[in-house]
Amino acid sequence: MKLRRTKHDGWYEIQARCPICGHKGWCRINRELTIVHCMRVASDDYFDSIIGRQFRHYLDPNAVPKTKVEIEMSNAVEKKPDYHLNRVYRALLKELPLSPEHFTHLLDDRNFEEKVVRLREYRTMPTQERYKIAKSVINRLSDNSDLLGVPGFFCQEGRYGPYWTMAGGAGLMIPFRTVTNEITGWQIRVDNPALELDMEGAIKGEILEELPRDESGNRTAKCSLKIQDKILEVILTEKDKKVCYSKSGQFVFSVELKQGQRYWWWSSGSKDNGSSIGGPIPIHLALPSPCLKFWETGDLANNLLDCSEVWVTEGPIKADKAADGLLKPVFGIPGVGAFSLLLEPLKKLGCKHIVFAYDADVIKTPEVEMALEQCVEFFAKETDMKLSLAMWDISYGKGLDDLLDNGYTPHVSTLLEA
Ligand SMILES: [Zn+2]
Repeated sequence: MKLRRTKHDGWYEIQARCPICGHKGWCRINRELTIVHCMRVASDDYFDSIIGRQFRHYLDPNAVPKTKVEIEMSNAVEKKPDYHLNRVYRALLKELPLSPEHFTHLLDDRNFEEKVVRLREYRTMPTQERYKIAKSVINRLSDNSDLLGVPGFFCQEGRYGPYWTMAGGAGLMIPFRTVTNEITGWQIRVDNPALELDMEGAIKGEILEELPRDESGNRTAKCSLKIQDKILEVILTEKDKKVCYSKSGQFVFSVELKQGQRYWWWSSGSKDNGSSIGGPIPIHLALPSPCLKFWETGDLANNLLDCSEVWVTEGPIKADKAADGLLKPVFGIPGVGAFSLLLEPLKKLGCKHIVFAYDADVIKTPEVEMALEQCVEFFAKETDMKLSLAMWDISYGKGLDDLLDNGYTPHVSTLLEA
């Protein structure tokens, strides 16, 4: 299990899969590997922090992960304040392109209009020559040290001395905007998520190499599996889960080749002189795209648009799309349990009514129900805002963006009166 030190002694950020939610990054574990502070799966034991509500889960002492613990060695530095991040990321906007492939993806797969893609300022993290971009960014700023403490950038030793470059997988870059239009972070939708083996029961294994896709376009890989004491080399295909039962019908093991996480924070916390996205973790305010031309940095969004009603969804692109579909301000938060991060921004906007709109397939799960109950309790205690929940049948669209694209509006019901 790969871990990264945090500011709290004895607590580590889980870089491998979180044993509670199965995602990578953001969740925490103690040194003894007995307690997880998961950021995504709610529990009734929790506390609020600058990275969001941390839900405490006790691991069964007999089921403590037995994998070797690796603690990332890095000389990362503290993240700089928002105004500095904004200055650097705005310079980066001018230097990064948007590739024709990503442009096409946004138009064809995400149903964006061309002019909207331009206004939203999506970018592409290239595979090569990133140091050239970092250099051009430095040229737009005052000096070399301006990139220090800016998540995503890091400085490495080269043949001719140290130089600045950029971390992260190649993919589509999505900017995160604060309520005053400062860009304080990015998420990358990676082009090629790493393949992973999802295993349960009496099996161990690893991916040896990725092979060409099969005729239906699924990814395949040569894998080495250890079952009992036998080691086998097999070719596994995505979406083809193998399950093995004993003669008496008991479950023995299962293995599935899966595509790993698609969305990542753009961060360089594992690199020398890099910086983790850390706390406060960014949340993204999307305004309808016609507002963007007039939205100056430093300008509170409610000077441009009525913010008495604000919608909340999960994920930045979904928020961008929904803002245009609803013609309302929409927050994209990094997880359903991250509602506590909304409090200060919503107060600044003078919000009176919050509408939560999460994907139709997750809204009925017990974890999300628990997170929503806690959310109501939290806002009832902290504010006098009205709270509502938007719901729809999944056949009309999975996410709020799909629903609006299909020409429907959700049913809004009150969770808490003002
Ligand atoms: Zn977790």
